[in-house]
Amino acid sequence: MNCIFCDIIERKAPAEIIFEDDKVLAFLDIKPIHYGHILVVPKKHYSDLLEIPGDALCSIIKTAKMVTGALVKSLKPDGYNLFSNNGKAAGQSVFHFHMHITPRYFKDEIHFKLKLKDYKNTEMQNIASLIKNEISNYI
Ligand code: 5GP
Ligand code: ZN
Repeated sequence: MNCIFCDIIERKAPAEIIFEDDKVLAFLDIKPIHYGHILVVPKKHYSDLLEIPGDALCSIIKTAKMVTGALVKSLKPDGYNLFSNNGKAAGQSVFHFHMHITPRYFKDEIHFKLKLKDYKNTEMQNIASLIKNEISNYI
């Protein structure tokens, strides 16, 4: 399997590494939204959020918080985004689960172009029922 993040973890590809422990690696994104954009990845290969076990995900989130603290203190952005793209339709391009952390600035002119919908009649309850019916499979 060809995976650039596995190559970075195994030091077969270069990266600017910010932090690592036995489970997690954090390094700078090569094409940052802003300078200091960080990726946090599990050392074991999982393709997306549904594949990564809960304890590995906890390690990712804890590390994300830690490196965000260091990012905020060092680069002093006005804010920051944490996000994860899952699936091609959602913009995922590397299929090794990862969290993005990117600094944000008041005048950075980055806007998500959203077309927000309205629920009609019982659509909201119907959608909630569909999701709730599956919840027991994921607890
Ligand atoms: P995704 O599009 O899957 O949410 O995010 C993948 C991210 O990995 C992108 O932001 C991209 O810039 C970054 N990336 C892809 N290849 C490399 C690489 O070789 N090195 C580093 N540091 N980042 C990479
Ligand atoms: Zn991988």
